[in-house]
Formats: sequence, structure tokens, C-alpha cells
Amino acid sequence: MPDSEMYMKLQPMLANMVPDVELRYKAELAEEINRLKVERNAVILGHNYMEPALYHSIPDYVGDSLYLARMAAETDKDIIIFCGVKFMAETAKILNPTRTVLLPAEKAGCSLAESISAHDVRELKAHFPGVPVVTYVNTYADVKAESDICCTSGNAVAVVESLDSETVIFLPDEYLAGNVARETGRHIIFPTTGSKSLQFETDLDYQMVGWRGRCEVHEKFTVEDINTVREQFPDVVILAHPECSPEVVAASDFSGSTTAMIHNVENSDAPHFLLLTECSMGDNIIAANPHKPMLRLCMVRCPHMKQITLEDTLKSLQLTQYKIEVPEEIRLKALQAVERMIAIG
Ligand code: SF4
Repeated sequence: MPDSEMYMKLQPMLANMVPDVELRYKAELAEEINRLKVERNAVILGHNYMEPALYHSIPDYVGDSLYLARMAAETDKDIIIFCGVKFMAETAKILNPTRTVLLPAEKAGCSLAESISAHDVRELKAHFPGVPVVTYVNTYADVKAESDICCTSGNAVAVVESLDSETVIFLPDEYLAGNVARETGRHIIFPTTGSKSLQFETDLDYQMVGWRGRCEVHEKFTVEDINTVREQFPDVVILAHPECSPEVVAASDFSGSTTAMIHNVENSDAPHFLLLTECSMGDNIIAANPHKPMLRLCMVRCPHMKQITLEDTLKSLQLTQYKIEVPEEIRLKALQAVERMIAIG
């Protein structure tokens, strides 16, 4: 039997990463998904952290959460399949409520989204009345609904600077907040732990109020990792996602969203690159740019993103599962916060 078109497309990119038997099987799955996608009038959105065979075969659009949210808002397809995690699929539903939005895995969560509840945000607002709330898009719809404006890792500084307020509440990523505080020259305070109710040292000088949520992937990178790599490869260019700690970001050469990191690698002739982010993104860049000298530091993969597989995406299309629903009252409030962010860019 001749090799399938999809296998011929994937093989040159992924032969060094995916065993041949597995690649043939995945190519077959991808062809069936693409056939069914047309039949069901669906669009597939794929986040940069998807595994390489999926990333390079079935999405109509790939990118970071802001770009994919824009594509979700614009689509006229009946079904949006979100190959990402639940908060991203919720954002698609918030922006395009008349479409059926499907997440291929029921439990594709996120440690950041789970670190904070709508009740926590209400408590913070009661503690700091009138202070605007900026919420990272990596949160669930009910948390967005309690917020004034959302942000992504790519526009967080611009969003904070757009607010006519000396102080802002920035939720829930402790490290992204720390990096934004550093870049905007603000002092940040966090709730003191060990107490049932929220407590803050408000006698300190502060212009930002944070929360102790963390990305369980990016928190693992350390300055020691950077030092070890620099010792072996003094000419390496290190790119860190802003969900890494402020110390790691300060010790790196560049920090930006996943899309900004990809552009940086594609437009640079550096002799070596090291990406401090979820490892599948490095795999995807290598697959698309095999001549780029990427170093690997891949002990960290996101267990939530890894829930999304080609098998489950096929089932999602066949069985119309798992449907994302957002109560209308919450959706309308969350929509305001997301639209304000999109207006900033
Ligand atoms: S990589 Fe981190 S922020 Fe992204 S989904 Fe996984 S846990 Fe959440």
C-alpha cells in the first residue's frame, strides 16, 4: 500500500522524534480527523504545547491562547474543537456562544486556573475596594467574570499600564505578576499564608496585589539550570516564558509569550537556543526548523496539555464531546473583561 499523504508530510519533520510505526498510526488518525472535520463543519484550534504529530497534522490554526481566542471569535464553523486546556475552550465559548465548543479531554485543567476561585476574587475586591482587577486568561470563566480586564503573558504589561490606577490587583500567577511588577517598576504584595482569611502587609509600599498561583511546569526551571547550560554552551541564547520565576527571567536573554519566543528563534541566527517552557513547543519548533540548534532541557511537560491526543480528538468529533458550557450571566461579565483585553492587543 502506498504511504498516505499525511504520513509523507509528517515523516520528514518527525522521523527523529516519533517511531515510524507510531507515526504511521498517527497519520492515519489525523487523516480520519481531517475528513470528519470537513463533514461536521468544524474548525480545530491547536495550542503551541500540543504534541508534534497532532500539532503538525490537524489544527486549522496553531498559536498562543490570545491568537486562538481571536480565531475562535471569528470562525463561522458550527463546531470549535479546542486542542488545549479547559480555560482556553471556555474563552472560545465566551467569545462565540452560538458555536458548539468541544474539549477532547474532560479533565484538561491547569494548575494556575485551579489556584483561584471567584469567591477569592470577591474577597480581594472587598479588601481593596475600587482597585481594578487584572486576570490572566489562564483562569476559569467565573473568575474572569469578577475581573475588570484579562491579560495574556504577551500583553500583561500593556494591560497594567493601560489602567488609570496607581494600584492594581493582578491574578493569579505569582511569577507573571512578579515579572510585570519588575517591568513596570511597581512593588507587589501577596497574601500572607497560614491564615484562613486573607491578610496583607498593607503598611508596605505597594502598587500591585498578587496571588500565589503558579504554573506547575514553568515553576520547575531554576537559575542553576541556566548556569549549568551556560557553562557548557557560553554562546547559548536562553528564552524564558514569563510564568518562570523573576529570577529565572532575569537570568535569561529574552522573555515573552510562546508566539514571541517562536518568532525570536525563527528570526535569530544564534548558535544555540534553550527554551524554558513546555517541552512540546521546542519539539514543534525543531520539526518546523530542523536546522535550528535547539538544546533540550525536557524534564517538564504539562500533564494537562498532554491529555489532548489524536485518539480523543477523533472521539470528540465522532461523539460531540466534551461540550463546554458557560452560564449566560457569567459569560456576559467575562466577555467584557476578555473584550477589553483584545482591544489592547
Ligand atoms: S503549562 Fe502551566 S499554565 Fe499552561 S496549562 Fe499547563 S499548568 Fe496551566
